[in-house]
Amino acid sequence: MSASHSNPARGLATRLTHAGRKPEDFHGFVNPPVVHASTVLFPDSKTMLTGAQPFHYARRGNPTTNALEDAVTEIEGAAGARLAPSGLAAISLALLSCLSSGDHVLITDSAYGPTRNLAETTLRRLGIDVDYYDPTIGAGIAALFKPNTKAVMTEAPGSLTFEMQDIPAIAEVAHAAGALVLMDNTWATACFFRAIEHGVDLSIQAGTKYLVGHSDAMLGTVAASPRALDGLVETYGALGLHVGPDDVFLGLRGLRTMDVRLRHHMASGLEIARWLQTRPEVARVRHPALPEDPGHAIWKRDFTGACGLFAFDFIDSVSLEQSHAFLDALKLFGLGYSWGGFESLAIPVRLKGARTATPLPEGGPSIRLHIGLEDVADIRGDLEAGFAALKG
Ligand SMILES: *Cc1c(COP(=O)(O)O)cnc(C)c1O
Repeated sequence: MSASHSNPARGLATRLTHAGRKPEDFHGFVNPPVVHASTVLFPDSKTMLTGAQPFHYARRGNPTTNALEDAVTEIEGAAGARLAPSGLAAISLALLSCLSSGDHVLITDSAYGPTRNLAETTLRRLGIDVDYYDPTIGAGIAALFKPNTKAVMTEAPGSLTFEMQDIPAIAEVAHAAGALVLMDNTWATACFFRAIEHGVDLSIQAGTKYLVGHSDAMLGTVAASPRALDGLVETYGALGLHVGPDDVFLGLRGLRTMDVRLRHHMASGLEIARWLQTRPEVARVRHPALPEDPGHAIWKRDFTGACGLFAFDFIDSVSLEQSHAFLDALKLFGLGYSWGGFESLAIPVRLKGARTATPLPEGGPSIRLHIGLEDVADIRGDLEAGFAALKG
């Protein structure tokens, strides 16, 4: 990236606006071109054999992918970054970049379900020992370390149960033991949690969510601290991962407005969360930005914002069938397994089989909401129709 645009002293919104752009390289056009390519030609055999030009073969980088990698590196305050074709591919890339046969990895019990599936299938098949830990364990994680523990996977808050994690405390223990810290930071993004500055070595984003932001592409990003970068680069190259330029373009486009969108999701989400707290049908709202939330102190200490994703638990007397009637009465909220786009979404939280180290949270059925960019009054009205359907 050009020196004129790369300036970590500038504010985040400024960096989101300028990171990864090099108009001077592209005839002044504000955005980088969407380069559809495989082959790159060399002017002569000497250039070819010495590799003395910026691009050699599109899988190893092209102007479009480099623009987003440069931008993610700058936004995350990382030593470097790589793209992946989905958020889950970013998680597998990050784990494979630092784990070998015979190693041990600690994974938070609140991890995204497919992360657990990856560990239980592929990682175990490769001879990697996996243990799950209580997400709220903090520095107590030291007791779970083995001589071969090479990585700790974190995610805060957990995307179904919303427990916060003390990332700096975990990082201190891990680094003293020579292990790397990985974090699925999709919820807060680098806008609201500076993962690398808080001790994370591999900061992972399901770019599908807030980076792309419009529910129209799948993307993942991994940003590395200096000690994790070589492994990331080597494994990325070895695996042959590549993201098509149209999807990278959608990531670059989403990046420019990410901070603005997130602030709107946060404000609307908090308004709905506070309103839900007043509803007699609701036992508890799981949202770390609420002062009543058990994770609030950590959120307040480490995070600078919240996204639009949280969950609530019905009171015990609400049955599973009634909670399904609630969902079926929603008109604005779509029923869909995603979040981070412009639209509101709801899912029933099903935790069966999701925990092995810690007990499942008790209580009435839970619903996870993604609060989109619709008018808050309309969102509330839709949820009111859901509550009315409980009585039917
Ligand atoms: C969606 C999601 C992912 C995976 O992203 P995909 O692009 O769907 O593969 C990873 N982590 C969290 C927390 C997610 O919500």
